[in-house]
Amino acid sequence: MYELFDSPAYSEAVMQFRRAGERLATDDGLEERFELPQRTLVVSCPVRMDDGTQKVFSGYRVQHNQALGPYKGGIRYHPEVDMGEVAALAMTMTWKCGLAELPFGGAKGGIAVDPGKLSEGELERLTRRYTAEILPIIGPNEDIPAPDLGTNPQVMAWIMDTYSMSKGFTVPSIVTGKPVLIGGSLGREEATGFGVAYVAEDTLERFGKRTADVKVVIQGFGNVGTYTALKLRDLGIKVVAVSDVRGGIYNPDGLPVEELVEIVRRKGFVTDHGGGDKITNEELLALECDVLIPAALGRVIHKDNAQKLKCKMVVEAANNPTTAEGDDILRERGILVVPDILANSGGLIVSYFEWVQGLQEYYWSREVVHDELKKRMKSTFIKVADFAEKEKIPMRLAALMLGIDRVARAKKLRGLYP
Ligand code: GLU
Repeated sequence: MYELFDSPAYSEAVMQFRRAGERLATDDGLEERFELPQRTLVVSCPVRMDDGTQKVFSGYRVQHNQALGPYKGGIRYHPEVDMGEVAALAMTMTWKCGLAELPFGGAKGGIAVDPGKLSEGELERLTRRYTAEILPIIGPNEDIPAPDLGTNPQVMAWIMDTYSMSKGFTVPSIVTGKPVLIGGSLGREEATGFGVAYVAEDTLERFGKRTADVKVVIQGFGNVGTYTALKLRDLGIKVVAVSDVRGGIYNPDGLPVEELVEIVRRKGFVTDHGGGDKITNEELLALECDVLIPAALGRVIHKDNAQKLKCKMVVEAANNPTTAEGDDILRERGILVVPDILANSGGLIVSYFEWVQGLQEYYWSREVVHDELKKRMKSTFIKVADFAEKEKIPMRLAALMLGIDRVARAKKLRGLYP
């Protein structure tokens, strides 16, 4: 198992856990148990490509901890996916579920693949084979996958179908984030981005200012970035720069969010829009603004660029976007960081609503979902901000401590098997 610790992403996750764990001083060897995932699965997925050749892709599913309930977590399709990253993300999910007070444990999956380079048919065959390979360890009461970077409701539909076909009957609750027509929840698609926007608003109100000239910069314009921008616009908060893989655009007077979302929906890039100056992703991170929202990959704020950031606050929409060294520099510089497990928990929260709706076969209106999401995001924000203030600690540490403490208490109650 020690190769896990060779992974920078995994070491980082463990380091963050230790910082919080030391303060909590949980006993009974819990720290040691939390530092390793409960179960890891590596699968190889051979796929017949459109040209008749066969290609093999590596897939992973890591189940970190199930003290609070069935494992839960997304599936990521990205060329840089590896065991270390997936295990780190699975650990993050455990604390995220604990913080949000959901009856789930943390898991994560992924395939090392660039989904943009596959045809629709290849993507479907890869998804179905991966599902077949991880089938022995997933289930609606065991481990419930969801979308993450590079996957979407269509991929969830294929997972649900593959699982259901293997059982001989339809099992909607095997995944969340599936299309509404086959049991998905209204409001799930926009949930992560909306949640990020609520947290950004709360952060500005509590720690900054909430005036018409507040400027927000978003790195990444996929599902999370687009819905964050749309909700910020609804809340009357100006987005001055956004970017995608090709680079970004910047306009200090504000960007027409709706037009940019339209371009991206038509499979274009934000730089296709002429309404601002073209900038690189690195330049975007260094723009002067009130709130910077990294909503793309992990580890984008690190020791080599943290010094250059000119924002007042960072609201982490991506998972693990700040390295520990980057985080230390931001703290020294007085830049407030609102951590991922709080800021991006909206998707997970509505996944929980979707799971509950599926099990009860009773579906809620979009308004109910949106209201419940908003309530939970706001109360968790207050919980973390109050605790951080009381303990005089950064919000990341506060959020981790609250999440870990809940899992640790559950684990203690359940005792050691056998
Ligand atoms: N992949 C998302 C996350 O990282 C959502 C997970 C879920 O809905 O289960 O939080």
